[in-house]
Amino acid sequence: MRGGLRRRPPGRYLGRMAGCDVVVVGGGVIGCAVAFELACEGASVVLVERDEIGAHASGAAAGMLAPIAESSGSGPLVDLGLRSLDRIARRLPELEELSGIDPKLLRCGVLRLAPPGEVEDLRAAAAALAGHACEWLDPDELHKREPRLAEEWGGALWAAREACLDPLSLTRAYAVSAERRGADVRPSTAARGVIRDGARVAGIRTDAGDIPAGDVVLCAGVWSGAIGAALGRDFPIEPVKGQILELEAPEPTLPAILWTPDVYLVPRPDGSLRVGATVERAGFDARPTAGAVAALLEAACGVLPPLSECRFERAWAGLRPATPDRLPLVGRVAGRPGLWIAAGHYRNGILLSALTAECLAAELVRGEAPPELKALDPSRFSSAAATRT
Ligand SMILES: Cc1cc2nc3c(=O)[nH]c(=O)nc-3n(C[C@H](O)[C@H](O)[C@H](O)COP(=O)(O)OP(=O)(O)OC[C@H]3O[C@@H](n4cnc5c(N)ncnc54)[C@H](O)[C@@H]3O)c2cc1C
Repeated sequence: MRGGLRRRPPGRYLGRMAGCDVVVVGGGVIGCAVAFELACEGASVVLVERDEIGAHASGAAAGMLAPIAESSGSGPLVDLGLRSLDRIARRLPELEELSGIDPKLLRCGVLRLAPPGEVEDLRAAAAALAGHACEWLDPDELHKREPRLAEEWGGALWAAREACLDPLSLTRAYAVSAERRGADVRPSTAARGVIRDGARVAGIRTDAGDIPAGDVVLCAGVWSGAIGAALGRDFPIEPVKGQILELEAPEPTLPAILWTPDVYLVPRPDGSLRVGATVERAGFDARPTAGAVAALLEAACGVLPPLSECRFERAWAGLRPATPDRLPLVGRVAGRPGLWIAAGHYRNGILLSALTAECLAAELVRGEAPPELKALDPSRFSSAAATRT
């Protein structure tokens, strides 16, 4: 026993003492999903969120569940993303029943439009991914699906399995469902530091008092790096700003998400259209700017000219947590017993929330290391990342 807590015996939690089994730091989609899955595994969980649930990147996202469009069909994201998409779809009925929140999953598929220079690559990707319900559409077939498209496209990769949902609703659904499963979710509560027991991390400190815990999971998005630095761990996560806007959708609504290298158009069941997103290095500044909004509007109207007649609703921005290989850090932090991380999901945190949370909870509670976690090992940058003690 350490720090007044009963330590987890291998395989599962037995009984509780003071504090809780796990503190989760951060109430974005990742922290809320992790809290939910840990609570489902029987752990006692406290989640602290400095602001409101989903107040940052998770509430700012477009909500696409689109690993093929996002990766051009290659790399580990395809496999991880498709698995996570299936897991979200499986979990949604339970989340909706527990929380009463419907994130409005729309299984509309994605048309990844091919500029002339990308036709051969995307055609090859469509053939390679035929087993995942992908196909190549020639320009004629593409214009039959969406006759309002501008003429310049050389065809499209049609990814029928891809989908979208409302990301803020998903985040809130995870948070409320975690509470229904017994988690203690505390908004307006910032982690100010950790409780140390030698090298072990044994809980966190907040303005409202200490929260001792057997394990701490860091899910603080772009702020995870600063928290890691205070613990002598350099997590290579940098903020990449994304600006995005909402228009009234044209009538009839789009048949699918339209994805191009410059802009994407995401139809929502409420009759709106999300238009995203810029990719900017602007530090921690998350304010929308006139220039970026103008550029997004120009790109969107270039793809689908009738959009210029649609009402402008609003614009906003968020900070994506990016790692050097654009995959997240998920798992145990080497050399800091009791500390775990699930952060750095860059453009795909909504998509990867389910896989991240299920894998992390399986390892933390049951001691199982799911094979998916190999590619996401937090120490894979260890030659670059300092390991000060
Ligand atoms: C414009 C845009 C569009 C996007 N579109 C998509 C998309 O279509 N599909 C997709 O899958 N992904 C998308 N993303 C990426 C996705 O939004 C992120 O990968 C994801 O939201 C990251 O979730 P997170 O929980 O790690 O971070 P966040 O949502 O940023 O949550 C981290 C939380 O930690 C809290 N926190 C920080 N420090 C502390 C502390 N000391 N104590 C307590 N709490 C703390 C913060 O307040 C914050 O709420 C998009 C992102 C942007 C910006």
